[in-house]
Amino acid sequence: MYKITLIPGDGIGPEIIETAKNVIDATGVVIEWDMVNAGLDVYAKEGILIPQKVYDSLEKNRVALKGPITTPIGQGFQSINVLLRKKYDLFANIRPVKSIPGIRVPFSNIDLVIFRENTEDLYIGIEKMISPGIAEAAKRITEKGSRRIIQAAFDYAKANHKSKVAVVHKANIMKLTDGLFLACARDIAKAYPEIQLQEVIVDNMCMQLVMNPAQFEVIATTNLYGDILSDLCAGLVGGLGLVPGANIGNSMAIFEAVHGSAPDIAGKNAANPTAVILSGAMMLEHLGEKDSADLIYLAVKEIIQQGEHITKDLGGNATTTEMSRAIIEKILTLK
Ligand code: NAD
Repeated sequence: MYKITLIPGDGIGPEIIETAKNVIDATGVVIEWDMVNAGLDVYAKEGILIPQKVYDSLEKNRVALKGPITTPIGQGFQSINVLLRKKYDLFANIRPVKSIPGIRVPFSNIDLVIFRENTEDLYIGIEKMISPGIAEAAKRITEKGSRRIIQAAFDYAKANHKSKVAVVHKANIMKLTDGLFLACARDIAKAYPEIQLQEVIVDNMCMQLVMNPAQFEVIATTNLYGDILSDLCAGLVGGLGLVPGANIGNSMAIFEAVHGSAPDIAGKNAANPTAVILSGAMMLEHLGEKDSADLIYLAVKEIIQQGEHITKDLGGNATTTEMSRAIIEKILTLK
């Protein structure tokens, strides 16, 4: 039996986390869910964004499934997501992006994984007003931070028989910061002669991805470019409601969808639960429960392909609850 921390989060978070929990339970893997919450809703009730019990639960269980948390734009609120990633050194943000048959998008052959550095770059949160009308932000890239994410991408490529890793940068302009990231990539690639290193400047990468995404298998990049490219890639396979993610460190892993709290559809039972359900499947794989993870992947694929119980963002008219119920029924018949 596993003990897992469950964080519902804000906006659509509670709706989709509940469905993911039910889907995971349907596989038969026995999990004791330790539900704690953080975010704006908690702040409104308790006056604190992350109560101590959230840290306690994470530090005890070391594995969590988390819903999205709202970060208001403007001063006064730090992103809880960024804070947790930094506090627990969850340096690898891993986001698999895969075409799902049945979704009407221009490409049907996308199968790539993004390795986004998760703890540095412009996300270190050092910004200041130089003088009225002039603001500056610090961008930090370190050799240690760069090497471990690039190494993770190459290790993944090797373990999964991939032939290339694309390193995305802007070293032509940011010669020291992105230059360091690229230099680390060139050095690490030497140890993997069977894997091709693709060096791609981020603006060109955006064009390449929308014209010929199938040329990429594994992408390793810095925090900000990874954030932006993840949403771009999500759009290529049908939207933010489909792409899962994992924040992995050496001693903790937090699984969450790529998307945010979607305030525009919150509370309407309209969110696509797929991304968080697939994040749950990634979590099961991480726990060594590969057969149960595969069961979820297959059930999700079949329900989307059938097209009868899909949410509005995918062109259907099912609610969040109806789509997840269909996935659960499919799991039970496949088991
Ligand atoms: P968003 O991802 O919440 O929404 C962007 C668009 O995609 C919206 O139109 C939304 O309705 C749609 N969408 C997102 N998820 C969907 C789903 N599961 N099903 C159907 N449609 C879906 O991005 P945003 O509006 O820029 O951000 C809202 C809030 O979420 C912000 O406060 C942001 O900081 C936060 N956020 C949190 C995380 C996280 O917790 N990891 C990640 C990204 C954004």
